[in-house]
Amino acid sequence: MVKPFRLAYIITGVILLVVFSTAVLYKLQPALYSLNPVHSYLAFRVYNKWSSFIYDIPEEKRSIVNYDELMNSLNFAEREFAERIFSIDPKTLGFKGPFFGRDKADNLVMIPSRFVGEGKGKTETGIQYCPKHSYRDYERMMNAMHAAIGKRLYIDSGYRSPGRQAYLFFYYLVHSNDYNLTENAKWIAMPGYSEHGSPKNNAIDFVSGGGINGFSDGQTAEDFEELEEFAWLMKNAKSFNFYLTYPPDNPYGVAYEPWHWHWEGDVLESLKGETTIH
Ligand SMILES: [Zn+2]
Repeated sequence: MVKPFRLAYIITGVILLVVFSTAVLYKLQPALYSLNPVHSYLAFRVYNKWSSFIYDIPEEKRSIVNYDELMNSLNFAEREFAERIFSIDPKTLGFKGPFFGRDKADNLVMIPSRFVGEGKGKTETGIQYCPKHSYRDYERMMNAMHAAIGKRLYIDSGYRSPGRQAYLFFYYLVHSNDYNLTENAKWIAMPGYSEHGSPKNNAIDFVSGGGINGFSDGQTAEDFEELEEFAWLMKNAKSFNFYLTYPPDNPYGVAYEPWHWHWEGDVLESLKGETTIH
């Protein structure tokens, strides 16, 4: 039988070992393929806190949530960890897209939420935003599409603030990509690197009136690609300053995204006829 004082030594030893290894694991650089248990736990905590933070603010603020406010909602270790993740150069994760900056866009148009799809597949887009110049071109493009094929595409995701992008990065890291930073970077950009956060050349993810966006609920890119609306975009979107960013085998290291189109044009030209240009 182990003597009581010896047992106390063993217990203290085990506790010290756990504390010491936790500290060592915390201090290590985040692994690019599989986060260690301490980093995984922190990633989950960050996701969890940001999730509650976002659902506590009014719905119309969720896509444009402030980056600093999100960071301030974390404790010291969580914040330091999140900052370490976002200071990783995305190129080391295989993402080769440009840095757009983390400035907030002004001149945003608020787009009310709408329902798409039917029956069990019925979903809501949530309130979205778009810079005014790209929104005007989007509306013109949809009027032309409707005149040609009797259909429209809706905005599933428009402008997203760096804060929203930060939240989504952790959301997908925890929910979809098993704490693998490299895999995650194929699907979701870091804050500052997403076209959705570019105040000038912002991207729009489209969803059809039937609820097809190419990635929700077991859908695949091919489901979106087969839409008549997609064929129309491929032919006509450039006349409205919209371009497909991630075709198959694109040079950015991003998966094929037929639903993701970015705006590229002359801002003043697109705003012509507006009474006030901010
Ligand atoms: Zn997108």
